[in-house]
Amino acid sequence: MHDFSYHGGILHCGDVRLDRIAREVGTPFYCYSMPTLVRHIEAFEEPYKAIDHQTCFAMKANSNLAILSLMTRYGLGADVVSGGELYKATKAGIPADKIVYSGVGKTTEEIDMAISAGIMMFNIESQQELEVINARAGELGRKAPISIRVNPDVDPRTHPYISTGLRSHKFGIDIEASTTQYLRAREMDHIEIVGIDCHIGSQLTEVRPFIDAVERLKILIEELAQRGIVFRYLDLGGGLGITYSDEQPPHPREYGKAIIDTVSGLGMTLIFEPGRVIVGNAGILVTRVLYRKETPEKTFIVVDAGMNDLIRPALYGAYHEILPVERKAPETRTEKADVVGPICESSDFLAKDRDLPVLARGDLIAVMSAGAYGFTMSSNYNSRPRPPEVLVDGDAYSVIFKRQTYEDLVAGEMIPDTLR
Ligand SMILES: *Cc1c(COP(=O)(O)O)cnc(C)c1O
Repeated sequence: MHDFSYHGGILHCGDVRLDRIAREVGTPFYCYSMPTLVRHIEAFEEPYKAIDHQTCFAMKANSNLAILSLMTRYGLGADVVSGGELYKATKAGIPADKIVYSGVGKTTEEIDMAISAGIMMFNIESQQELEVINARAGELGRKAPISIRVNPDVDPRTHPYISTGLRSHKFGIDIEASTTQYLRAREMDHIEIVGIDCHIGSQLTEVRPFIDAVERLKILIEELAQRGIVFRYLDLGGGLGITYSDEQPPHPREYGKAIIDTVSGLGMTLIFEPGRVIVGNAGILVTRVLYRKETPEKTFIVVDAGMNDLIRPALYGAYHEILPVERKAPETRTEKADVVGPICESSDFLAKDRDLPVLARGDLIAVMSAGAYGFTMSSNYNSRPRPPEVLVDGDAYSVIFKRQTYEDLVAGEMIPDTLR
């Protein structure tokens, strides 16, 4: 369900024509729909209305301050994976006690920053990290609240690069080893055990792996309870998938119901870390056709957005639906084409062997479902300024990130005197 639809043959976001935004901010640009974001937040929250819980938006999916401010307004916290994300979350007004900190490589400086801020908890990913956090908390005269990210060895049946819950992955602590680590943590002077956590992967399209993971955690929770370790928080991570083409992921309602049924009676506050399911289908990337290039093998549609703007196709072979901003007449011929960017890499494509209406130089196209892991993964590769982001609400839009300039590209670069 989203807010991008044709009116009078022109693709709109809400009531705003995308060709108008293109004219005013240039191309390429990211466009997000505020009403869709709100609907996704509300749909995710709905099942837990009567249940102790806190949803912590996974900021790595989209960390624009305007988007985060919207999350703040709806009571969401944040799942952060770096000091930069913690900084941005705080800047967007997300209270520290609604922030969880995940990731295998937290630096000493980042740990100090999070302890001082007073975050809800660290999700611990290794024994050594636990020791370092204990030491840093001691140094700062504080107690660090922690949960252990348990790796339940469940196959999420998603793309290997976004799957994290198998023993072979770098994430979390083996379920067998978790008991030992909790017992160690209990003996530490500056650690307060507050929760237990798992996150098994991203873009999951079935409920089953989530439930399997929770079932495994429940066994561990009972075992630890017998040893006197009880938890306040049960953090179930994120990972709920969305429809990019013909996937049929569970609706948040169905996911929520299955989770609630599985955890009932545990008496713990549920923590969720959704990213993609909130923002993925609330955003698109709009780009303009620069050239048609026909070779004996293939037709290439060369556009002004590249893998530096949206890397998911290059990185995961991800599928994004492509729609022309100006709808072509039904009788328009279609053709099989690759939509490619201007970057000097063969992996720089947005779509491969796609059936598309015949596109011409100057046409605008929308790359759908680009709200998650789109802009946040963008870069300046090939010295391309990062594109602007706009947020549409009804018949108005705001620029929430302005297009970088060439000066921005050299900000921070310095030429040593010896080279002058
Ligand atoms: C990436 C990530 C998430 C969010 O995943 P989505 O698939 O976007 O919901 C949540 N928790 C952790 C620890 C993550 O690494």
